[in-house]
Amino acid sequence: MENLPIIQTQIKSATDQLEIVCNQYEQASSKANGRRGKLGTRCHQPGHYRAGCSNLSCMDMSNCGASEKHPESKNEIMELQKLIKDLQKKEAKASEELQSFKLAKERSVNSFFAVMRPRLRRQNEGCYVDKFTLDKDLILLKKIFNNKIPGDTWRDWEMLLLIECYR
Ligand SMILES: [Zn+2]
Ligand SMILES: [Zn+2]
Repeated sequence: MENLPIIQTQIKSATDQLEIVCNQYEQASSKANGRRGKLGTRCHQPGHYRAGCSNLSCMDMSNCGASEKHPESKNEIMELQKLIKDLQKKEAKASEELQSFKLAKERSVNSFFAVMRPRLRRQNEGCYVDKFTLDKDLILLKKIFNNKIPGDTWRDWEMLLLIECYR
């Protein structure tokens, strides 16, 4: 079973990362606002073509703001979005598993009572005519056996002794 808190931590950190990257992207893009004309293919500076350009080549969108020249910036955002989506799917699956695990546990508690009630009653029919006493001892028995139904019925006579000791 996947660990739900770990997945949730991963979602949180990926979401934080996405916010940072998106902010950077927007800030960079705003540099391109109102700019017209072609950019140098290498330096991404406006006003000239590559021929004769002696500027350094632009390696980062935060320099030029030209998102069309830097597909990697958009890719980073899309990859993070995909990662978050996948993690959210994992989270849903893990929480579903946790839910059914809890249900199964609950069911096994119910089945302990269902199986052990008649077995315990048989050990002392007279005393266990009183349903309240029977239920009280069943709860004790469940603790004693740690919610595990004992397989051997031939040792059921010991149950009364055990209950006596734990009372
Ligand atoms: Zn240039
Ligand atoms: Zn650039």
